Amino acid sequence: MLRVKSVSLQIAVILGLQAPLMAVGAEEKVINLYSARHYQTDEALYANFTKATGIKVNRIEADDNALIERLNSEGSKSPADVILLVDAARLWRAQVNGFFMPIKSKYLDDRIPANLRAKSDAEGTTWFGFSTRARIVVYNKNTVKPDDVNTYEKLAEPINKGKVCTRSGSHPYMLSLLGALIERNGEKAAESWAKGMVANMARSPKGGDTDQIKAVASGECGVALTNSYYLARLMRSTKPEDVAVISKIGFVWPNQKSGGVHINIAGGGVAKNAPHPKAAAQFLEYLASDSAQTYFADGNNEWPVVASVRVDNPALKELGPYIAEKVSVASIGLNQIAAQKILDRVGYK
Ligand code: FE
Repeated sequence: MLRVKSVSLQIAVILGLQAPLMAVGAEEKVINLYSARHYQTDEALYANFTKATGIKVNRIEADDNALIERLNSEGSKSPADVILLVDAARLWRAQVNGFFMPIKSKYLDDRIPANLRAKSDAEGTTWFGFSTRARIVVYNKNTVKPDDVNTYEKLAEPINKGKVCTRSGSHPYMLSLLGALIERNGEKAAESWAKGMVANMARSPKGGDTDQIKAVASGECGVALTNSYYLARLMRSTKPEDVAVISKIGFVWPNQKSGGVHINIAGGGVAKNAPHPKAAAQFLEYLASDSAQTYFADGNNEWPVVASVRVDNPALKELGPYIAEKVSVASIGLNQIAAQKILDRVGYK
């Protein structure tokens, strides 16, 4: 089903050094998973993999930046087999840093839409999306009309002057959105958009996505951008303060008639110097299976990448159906440098 580049050579080297009597091709039944995810449902996700394959999962969990730093300092001696990160911006950076080993898997290619993974070449594919999140618009129901904020472009128009809040422009979520807008509208239009956003700010960019939602509820901001799972998390919460926040805000799926809502991924790949590359690739295939897709997406209120897999998540049901952009996450990665340059030029903090 899958072919891992240079597997035989690597295994021969490892076995030669450590276990000369073991049969060539045998691999210790374990993977070292470097993951930026840490959700309750992940326990069941990994336990099911071990049950089905006998392969143990050693988890190293940290946030994306800490994992990338660790991989950098470990270099070629890294014990990492699988790397899971969130956002195409970070996956692309990890690819540029040489953290991934390309793999060829017909199963992964068949299951995961081509626009939700890195571009394949003769060597294979470096990283794959396993769940999707959308960058959605939230607005204050008292001060803003949904029709005035139903496209990304409108947020940058004079009608929304003094109303817009976002997190820092150079955060991966904003860099990826701008990367997608470059792909959709061209660099010039993307720069005017970023300029318009800066002109419309209610306050200097700060905080995370949940902070933007809360600031919209309090009235400090009229409209803001958030990844869908932060909104879904608040919608599922029974805490009185979260219920109060949700009661004051509305949400809009942006650009439903013009290119769709911006989509990003959580995903990963096999590590460049994986000691257990076969098991690592097997784990990635497992993540694209029907049962794992449900757990993976549900853990963070996201959507599966495999189209036939259905989720039963009340908050996602409430968000309803939407039209997603068709932009490839690989091109969003490639546009990162252009996006950062635009942000610097327009002074988007
Ligand atoms: Fe996040």
